[in-house]
Amino acid sequence: MTMATKVMNNYIGGEWVEAKTNQTEKVYNPATGEVIARVPVSTKEDLDDAVNVAAETFKTWKEVPVVKRARILFKYHQLLVDHWDELAELITLENGKSLKEAHGEVLRGIECVEFAAGAPSLMMGEQLSSIATELESGMYRYPIGVIGGITPFNFPMMVPTWMFPMAIVTGNTFVLKPSERTPLLANRLAELLEEAGLPKGVFNIVHGAHDVVNGLLDHKQVAAISFVGSQPVAEYVYKRGTENLKRVQALAGAKNHSIVLKDANLDNATTQIVNAAFGSAGERCMACSVVAVEESIADEFINQLVEKTNEIKMGNGLNDDVFLGPVIRDQHKERTLQYIETGVKEGAKLVRDGRNDEGVEQDGYFVGPTIFDHVTNEMKIWQDEIFAPVLSICRVKNLEEAVELTNQSRFANGACIFTKDGGNVRTFRETIDAGMLGVNIGVPAPMAFFPFSGWKDSFYGDLHANGKDGLYFYTRKKVVTGRWV
Ligand code: NAD
Repeated sequence: MTMATKVMNNYIGGEWVEAKTNQTEKVYNPATGEVIARVPVSTKEDLDDAVNVAAETFKTWKEVPVVKRARILFKYHQLLVDHWDELAELITLENGKSLKEAHGEVLRGIECVEFAAGAPSLMMGEQLSSIATELESGMYRYPIGVIGGITPFNFPMMVPTWMFPMAIVTGNTFVLKPSERTPLLANRLAELLEEAGLPKGVFNIVHGAHDVVNGLLDHKQVAAISFVGSQPVAEYVYKRGTENLKRVQALAGAKNHSIVLKDANLDNATTQIVNAAFGSAGERCMACSVVAVEESIADEFINQLVEKTNEIKMGNGLNDDVFLGPVIRDQHKERTLQYIETGVKEGAKLVRDGRNDEGVEQDGYFVGPTIFDHVTNEMKIWQDEIFAPVLSICRVKNLEEAVELTNQSRFANGACIFTKDGGNVRTFRETIDAGMLGVNIGVPAPMAFFPFSGWKDSFYGDLHANGKDGLYFYTRKKVVTGRWV
């Protein structure tokens, strides 16, 4: 059987099992258009099998001392480090991002494992020896059961590792439904977990689409859902999951804004924004999509931005010097080209047209970096998440107008300011409606020990992924009050 026709297996109870369906979807290398595997569109029955195993395994896994669970993560950490290059290549193969970006993504995943391996300290409770005369109280943390993880295509390693290391080290069991567009890496993560000594049934994978997602949302034995993906699906998952009385954290789409003020270091601002707008082909939930620049420096800013953008090398991310890889699928390329057309029709000024770049015509799904000037908030290119290398620039009078404009977005994942003035930074921090802020940096994605904390339509729920929020989301508490008599 060639790689091209290979149908991937699910991972249930520590065994690689065929899905109970003949229905499959093609997995493409987006840089070449080649079919590299087939992913099964698993059924509700497949999902039920996985959840049942996970529920059964929970009974014993939760009894394993947390220090022993953490030791498995220490081994896993070493295995991820040992396999760093291989994992990065697999990410580039199925997602298209450059090898450098993929190496960075593996690092982000490793950091999540490092944070979760501190579970013995993180899980400690609190005590008070005298809540009244000779009466004491203590709080203890416990796992909650089977967790369902549903993940997007753009970070096949980082997003699952936001979820399962913390979930399993705190004593839960896990069923992952990876993106059907980038499913390969998940299986490798499972193989390495097995090598690290994780008992069978603690971590399971069911590949597929809607049926598996709905199965997780409806299954009585699933205690909580961690979702990351686009806004409409996040809203749907949050509503259906909470209606079924589950804990749900649903991280959604984004449209991140940067504000560039006239006192900014323009060289730094343009370098950071080129990276933030076009790195990973704009397919980051923390990508910079809109810049509000002060009118007095707008021309100079745009000239520098276009100059640096012109230096970007586009191509297959496996080649060393490539910065910009393809977008994920042909349909996504078509959708992006339509947005560029819409921007032109809406009256924005196309100052860099990525449709004409050399390489766009290849078999892979390439779109060159594209920049619009004179964009307003009435335009669709300002309002919608395009999730591609398309950047919109709005000209504003001052910081106040920039903040007011930015706050009109329905999304509120990240926002950045470029300035040398501490007072401006403070005003920005206090008045902007977004959960992850950057000061003179382009991609303010928090490290694993801080929460990934989007606001508004970029997040549904209350406890975010990562940091102590992650710990709290995957645990529940008992408070014991007693007296020695
Ligand atoms: P997506 O919403 O299409 O898919 C995400 C997951 O949901 C996949 O596993 C998919 O199989 C499943 N799914 C898709 N449609 C469904 C439906 N109708 N019913 C049930 N399940 C469904 O997202 P994507 O295109 O894979 O990922 C890109 C999106 O994810 C972007 O919007 C991006 O901003 C967002 N994202 C957000 C964050 C964040 O932290 N907020 C991080 C990464 C990605």
